[in-house]
Amino acid sequence: MSRRFSPPLFFLFFLCSTPLILTQLNDDPTIKTMHDFSGYPLHDPSNPFKSSDSISNSLSVDAQTLQKQIDELSTFSDAPAPSVTRILYTKNDVLARRYIKNLMGLAGLSVREDAVGNIFGRWDGYEPALTAVATGSHIDAIPYSGKYDGVVGVLGAIEAINALKRSGFKPKRSLEIILFTSEEPTRFGIGCLGSRLLAGAETLAEALKMMVDGQNISFLEAARSAGYARDEDDLSSVFLKKDSYSAFVELHIEQGPILEKEGISIGIVTNIAAPASVKVDFEGNGGHAGGVLMPERNDAGLAAAELTLAVEKHVMDSGSIDTVGTVGILELHPGAINSIPSKAHLKIDVRDIDEDRRNAVIEKIHNSAKLIAKKRKVTLSVFKIINQDPPAQSENSIIKAMEAASKELNLTRKYMVSRAYHDSLFMARISPMGMIFIPCYKGYSHKPEEYASPQDIENGVKVLALTLAKLSLS
Ligand SMILES: [Zn+2]
Repeated sequence: MSRRFSPPLFFLFFLCSTPLILTQLNDDPTIKTMHDFSGYPLHDPSNPFKSSDSISNSLSVDAQTLQKQIDELSTFSDAPAPSVTRILYTKNDVLARRYIKNLMGLAGLSVREDAVGNIFGRWDGYEPALTAVATGSHIDAIPYSGKYDGVVGVLGAIEAINALKRSGFKPKRSLEIILFTSEEPTRFGIGCLGSRLLAGAETLAEALKMMVDGQNISFLEAARSAGYARDEDDLSSVFLKKDSYSAFVELHIEQGPILEKEGISIGIVTNIAAPASVKVDFEGNGGHAGGVLMPERNDAGLAAAELTLAVEKHVMDSGSIDTVGTVGILELHPGAINSIPSKAHLKIDVRDIDEDRRNAVIEKIHNSAKLIAKKRKVTLSVFKIINQDPPAQSENSIIKAMEAASKELNLTRKYMVSRAYHDSLFMARISPMGMIFIPCYKGYSHKPEEYASPQDIENGVKVLALTLAKLSLS
């Protein structure tokens, strides 16, 4: 039996999950403002334990131990320090997973894993029948990268739970940490593999059965060597139902320079931009660079050059700074100085936080490609959209919870767009979503110089803990 991902239902889900603003009458104007501000009652009368606002003062994060764990985890690496290389289902990946599961166990979480190795650690709430609130990120690392990307959102989440426990907080909704399998596309060419599957990517589940890596090792074989996908060829067992979580929040380093440059502690992500990739081929007759006179030519390379400029123009004409477009690959065949290019191959990446606007740009690029081909008498043999993930919007109620948490902790904050994509982009398909960014040194990421200070990590973990507490009580 397959659980088909249905766009209309998904849309309905989002409509239904629009935050309810509680308009509770209160004589005290300060409390009313706070209620309006946070969008839910700060003092939950049904919580017999602690309300989220009373824990912001008693919340203590053990930054030293957390840093030690980040350092320890970085030693499970195929590259020498300070570089980290940790590829899906390799020995170091398995050891790193064991390290995380152990910490989850020590935090008192009940741990389970699915067929592709997404790992879940759950702290049961006192109303366990309610849908849980989830957080998490990834621990795989591309070759020669750093030790903070993803890791802060996994080890930080475990520390957030520990901090909540130490403060005496008891969750109403269960809290769950997710370690996502293969956020990086290194081994099988697919980014966010684990979260895509959780969100019900059926085509991917099918495709993975046939997929091999660079060494011709199949996905299933690799997964089995790491202890996963044991008796099941059916990866659809990984799919989650759309109402599995009431909220998902990911803590992550910014991977850009804005927070550090502006001296701001917390980035509240409002949107995640998503890329569309397009493959284009032009073909002409080619010929000798000396022998064929200019009026007789149909140069595929010049068509590609014109299209490259057209990409820039259409992106700039979108009217939004959030639209970006790049021709990252332009290959000419046969690639000789004395030969007119007979074939040109381009790969175009267009990103935006607005799906319609992004797709409109792609449509314009397609029209230009056809016009250019006609004008230059070359054939547009390929125009193919090879990937078109929808961008995601953070849920309003989660933005408000992150904002209220930062405010209660007296941390400076700003709204931002995530221009890189994350597991949160795919979790947004099955759950209301939000992301918390912390500054990182010069915006560096995916290289050994990647760094986030213990203070910034501590701030992020506190905001995460308080946000989870609020969402758990809502
Ligand atoms: Zn990441």
